[in-house]
Parts: sequence; C-alpha cells; structure tokens
Amino acid sequence: MQVLSVASEVYPLVKTGGLADVAGALPIALAKQDIAVKTLMPGYPAVMRIAEGAALRRTFPDLLGVEAHILEIEYKGLDLLILDCPELFDRQGGPYLDTDGKDYTDNWRRFAALSKAGAIIAQQGLTGDPGSWQPDLVHVHDWQAAMLPAYMRYAAEAELPSVITIHNIAFQGVFDAEIFPELELPPHAFSIDGIEYYGKVSFLKAGLQASWEISTVSPSYAEEVLTPEFGMGLEGLLHSRSDDLTGIVNGIDTDVWNPQTDPLLASTYSAATLKARSDNKRLVAERFALDAGDGPLFCVISRLTEQKGMDLLAETLDDLVTHGARLAVLGSGNKTLEDAFHAAAIRHPGRIGVIAAYDEPLSHLMQAGCDAIVIPSRFEPCGLTQLYGLRYGCVPIVARTGGLNDTVIDASHAGLAAKAATGISFGPLTADNLARALRRAIRLYEDDKVWTVIQKQGMKSDVSWNRSAALYAALFSEILARKGI
Ligand code: ADP
Repeated sequence: MQVLSVASEVYPLVKTGGLADVAGALPIALAKQDIAVKTLMPGYPAVMRIAEGAALRRTFPDLLGVEAHILEIEYKGLDLLILDCPELFDRQGGPYLDTDGKDYTDNWRRFAALSKAGAIIAQQGLTGDPGSWQPDLVHVHDWQAAMLPAYMRYAAEAELPSVITIHNIAFQGVFDAEIFPELELPPHAFSIDGIEYYGKVSFLKAGLQASWEISTVSPSYAEEVLTPEFGMGLEGLLHSRSDDLTGIVNGIDTDVWNPQTDPLLASTYSAATLKARSDNKRLVAERFALDAGDGPLFCVISRLTEQKGMDLLAETLDDLVTHGARLAVLGSGNKTLEDAFHAAAIRHPGRIGVIAAYDEPLSHLMQAGCDAIVIPSRFEPCGLTQLYGLRYGCVPIVARTGGLNDTVIDASHAGLAAKAATGISFGPLTADNLARALRRAIRLYEDDKVWTVIQKQGMKSDVSWNRSAALYAALFSEILARKGI
C-alpha cells in the first residue's frame, strides 16, 4: 500500500508537540507493515537545510497565488516531499508563530497551500505525468493539513480515501470568511456541510466533513471529543460521524528512549538493574539544587499550562513537601504558573527545583532518575511523557483522561493483586484528588517491593510504534477493503 502523509511538523526536523513525533515515527513503523509512506511537509528553513541534492518533482506556478515546488529527498528513513515555497515558509520564527510569538497573519494561506499541494499530488500523481507515483490513501494531521480532503472533494478528479488524525481538537484553524474566495474552492463549499463554521472558515471542520475516516490519538479521547466538555464545538459534527471515528494510541521511539543504551544518562539500566537509576537520581537532584537522598523524587516535564493541570499542581506543592517528597519541574509556558512554581521553590529550598526551559537531554535524565512523573492534565489526547515514564521506570501519576487513561493502569488493590498496575491514576481532576494521589504515590514508594513491581510492570508495557502501526495498518486496509479498493 502507498500512503501520502501530510503534516505541518515532522520530528526530528521541526517539532512543537506530539504531532511531530507521530509524523516522524509512524512512516518508519508502517514500512514494516508493507506500507510505503511519502511525507509532505512545508519547506521551513530547518527543512531546506537538509534539502541539498533533493530531486525536483513538480512546480506549481500559482499555488493559491504563490510559486512553489515539490522536492523529494530521503532523510533518516523518511521519504520526504518538501513544499519549497520561500514566500510562505522561509520565516525567522517557528512553524506557526513569528518571533514575537504571534500567529503569522497568512497562516490560512500557508496551510491551505500545503493541503492543496497534497490534494493535487494525490489526485494527479506526484509529477502530474501519466503513471507517476500516486497514493492509495491520504493521511492528514490536524488543522494544518485538514483542507486536503476538502480540496480533493471539490476537485474534478476522483477523490481518494483519506484519514484525518486529530492530535488536539483545541486547535481548529478558524479564519474570517473574507479569506474564503482566496481558497479557490467553489462557492458551495462555504456551507454547513463544507468549510463554513458559524459564519467563519474552519479548516479542521472542513477536514472532519470530507475525510473518509477520523482518528484521534487514543480511544478515550475519541469518546471524549463527542462531549461538549472536550469537543470544543465540534462534538455535534463528530457525533454525526461517530461510525467513522476511532482512537489509536501513539507509540514512542524505543531506540531513542531506551534506558539500556541512552547516552544522555549517567547510568544506563534495565528492569533487572533498577538500582543503577540512583546515579541518575543523584544527578537530577544536583541539577535542580535539591537535597540528596533516597526519599521520593517526583518530576514534571511539561508545558506549564492549565491544559496540563499545572495550576492544580501548584496548589498541592506545600502538601507534597510536607509529606516528604521532592519535585523537579522542567517546563515553561504561562508566566503566572512559572512564577507560582518559582515561588514554591523559594518557599521550599532543596525540596522543589524549577528549570524554566525546554531541555530534551535533561528530560531523558529526569525520566531515568526520578521516581515518578506527575501528569495532572485536564485533557490529554494521547500524551507522550507517561509513555517515556513507563519505559524508564519513572512511575506515571496521571489524571484519568484521554491517552493517560488508556496507557496507565492504576495501582489500586485490584491492579496490584492482578500484577497489572503500572502507575497511579486518579479522577475526577481536582487539587484535592491530585494531592491524595501524590500522597498515595508516596506511601506506595515507601514499600520498596511494591514500588519495584509497579516500575517493572510499566517497563514491560508495549509502548513501541509497532503496536500503533499495526492498528493504523489495519485501519487503512479496512478503509480500502470497505470501499472495494
Ligand atoms: P503536548 O504535545 O501536549 O505538549 P505531549 O506529552 O504529547 O504533550 O508531548 C510533549 C513532548 O514534549 C514530550 O516529548 C516531552 O518530553 C516534551 N517536553 C515538554 N516539555 C519539555 C521541556 N520543558 N523540556 C524537554 N522536553 C519537553
């Protein structure tokens, strides 16, 4: 099977969130399932730097008003198609935000162009010549690629099967109606069953209407988005398509995240040599200016936002310290929350340490040295840090939502008795319940035998892409079979 995957960020080239990990890892895992993926992404500066020697596949003299080219190059096991368009993508800031942290005002054109280029490649073939490469199915990610299925639907050529994956429904790509004429769609596309959304244009809505199948990044999130609390206004539409809605949990790169070989650790280890984690623990304590010692050391590796429940965690810090735990916080984001964590670190020197940065190497060391990772998210479509935690014996303490709910088995009496427990999960999410869960974790930690069993069971969980890729492969095959292809 041949698949065209379209994403606005792809690890390791450009990453702002979990979407990049999926777009970067899934094609490699799908190759083992006999699915060949070409990945189309924008030619940001970081991408153009690796494009030397790339083959020119196609030129669009006028792609939504700008000239663009499609380049193809192999890169770290990925077959990349780059949308080379300096006018849209050669920018100083990030993929979506300028250097002042503001949305680029032409984001609608940037990502409509990405989607339109993908639709043309899918429907006309990569080069446009007869017999040139064409996918059997198109897989698009989030609002930035969501217009692709809509462009296919409104084009003259036959529509191809498509899957849209929602990584986070909070981001929908909603723009003023005045951009509609510039999208080069027929007038009837601006309708309730097209791309119109409360008088505006919604890219995500367009994709959810036009895609053949919809997936989210965990089964629990697939159910949650059907509710007003999580659906962010799209729950009605998703309800009408609930027969075509499914959830597949992400995997992680188990080569990069392997405690037995990770070069970023002070000491590597396996489930059989967990004691070696103490070298990493010592180093984490040092880096965060925390007291040394064997007592419980918890961590946070996260954007500091309300989505991640960091406001609730900030409320429980005094209680956590009172009960004997230390906490290392790596993350930045909301200024008020950053201040709250810094204030707690000043109140509790040696017990709470904060590094307000994005530091990937340090995040590895923390997963390898801390006893538990705290993830009290209000919503979490999939979540990656609990998966790293499971693999590294850093016990996840999670709110019972989305992918956290699907990947962590609570150390309840039943969970422990069945030798299934892999972490601590709690709900509903309140500061009180979080504080209780943290206290429960501290108690469990005090029983070394029990804690080790939880760690080892977590380390046995299959968090690899192989499992996810098999589910995507089954989904893709089923769509093709259902449509008689
Ligand atoms: P989201 O995409 O919503 O931010 P995920 O858990 O899906 O949350 O993915 C977050 C990714 O970013 C993980 O790989 C995590 O390790 C990483 N990360 C988050 N904050 C930091 C940080 N401050 N330093 C290093 N890595 C971080």
